[in-house]
Amino acid sequence: MNILNLFKNKTFSHGIHLPDKKEHTREQSIRRLHFAPELIVPLSQHFGAPAKAVVSPGQEVVRGQVIAEADGFMSVPIHAPASGVVKEIELYPTAKGPKTEAIIIKTWPGASQRAASFEPVNIASLSHEQLIQAVQDTGMVGLGGAGFPTHVKLSVPPEYSIDTLVVNGCECEPYLTTDHRLMLEKTAELLQGTSMLMNALGAKQAIIGIEDNKMDAFNAIKSHISGFEHIQVKAVQTHYPQGSEKLLIKVLLGREVPSGGFPYQVGVVVQNIATITQLGELLPSNQGLIERVVTVTGTGVNKPGNYLVPLGTPIRFLLDHVGFSGNANHLILGGPMMGSTVASLDVPITKPVSGLLVFNEQSVEKVTDEIYPCIKCARCVDACPMHLNPSILGQLASKRQYEPMMETFNLMDCFECGCCSYVCPSNIPLVQYFRIAKSVLREQPREEA
Ligand code: SF4
Ligand code: SF4
Repeated sequence: MNILNLFKNKTFSHGIHLPDKKEHTREQSIRRLHFAPELIVPLSQHFGAPAKAVVSPGQEVVRGQVIAEADGFMSVPIHAPASGVVKEIELYPTAKGPKTEAIIIKTWPGASQRAASFEPVNIASLSHEQLIQAVQDTGMVGLGGAGFPTHVKLSVPPEYSIDTLVVNGCECEPYLTTDHRLMLEKTAELLQGTSMLMNALGAKQAIIGIEDNKMDAFNAIKSHISGFEHIQVKAVQTHYPQGSEKLLIKVLLGREVPSGGFPYQVGVVVQNIATITQLGELLPSNQGLIERVVTVTGTGVNKPGNYLVPLGTPIRFLLDHVGFSGNANHLILGGPMMGSTVASLDVPITKPVSGLLVFNEQSVEKVTDEIYPCIKCARCVDACPMHLNPSILGQLASKRQYEPMMETFNLMDCFECGCCSYVCPSNIPLVQYFRIAKSVLREQPREEA
């Protein structure tokens, strides 16, 4: 029987089917990008407290050296992505909008020279606490876009136990092919990283979930998996947003994460392919995260591909390397559904950035900027994978009635997939409304304190 038929019905209800637009990069092997003359390395590339700089202007740094320390448990260190000299520590623009402190490194011609003192580590000999510390020391965060510190995700509250590590190989956003290429080209590191994290969690099994538009990756993993008897690989339907943690857990294991809850409450931790693959390389060699694979594509790009990019590389340098047509007036970091549009070419590539999409003026399909009244068509309700009512939420948001959005209509279960905005015939920017509402609600306790 065809393997596709076996898993044909493995998907979730609602969501949307999007054109995947991956044809320009899915066959492109990962290529290394050379070093920019200056790297902009923000101290906050992750969810949590920004790292604290431990270098000063004029100081020489070597590739891989710690240049900023974690500021507490909910933070990670930052390592020098290249050898060079610290030019300054200044405020720079980020993809999220506000400027943030960044270490500017002027790179040397020998920028790839590495720090010499990396002692290999026998991961199997580490205690649970030592392994969590080792993960934090790599500076690893969720490379799928979330930027949540990986060691925090592995530190499950003691009253819960984890039986399953879910490895998220869905890469359901259109255009992106980073995880796809890693599964094909770094299969051994992926399986090694999976095995290490299973040990860290005490999980008895791992399931790698892959959308069925990447069956070559499915087959590559299958062919390497024989020595890893507790790791399985499963194909799921290509269906947006299949890569959401809660939906993937439901599809692969039939378990329902409670509203407002976390995967560990149902015995599961989910990690993204890129995160695990990088850990599979970094942990045994005791090194920090200094580069990542980024899909660079879109109608404005001359040389679309999957590039291994030093962290801190400015978008301007990356675009000069890949070439672009038109005036590249529409840039997105991440995927088109959940990524962030960027206005400045000085914004650098940071840890959570999996893609740079470039669209020129002619190709941006913008029918209208006009927002029309809700016509109660319920398309958003049919699309929402969390079974929320985006129409009512949108009406409350437009009146700034944020409390009932959270208390009565479960706003916090919205993970901003964008399905509702995508299908809305009235062009209502629902997901933007929800982002604003959530940030206002998160700020409220601090204002009251
Ligand atoms: S953005 Fe939120 S409300 Fe809209 S479809 Fe996605 S989960 Fe539902
Ligand atoms: S899709 Fe748009 S117009 Fe239709 S019910 Fe939802 S918000 Fe209203």
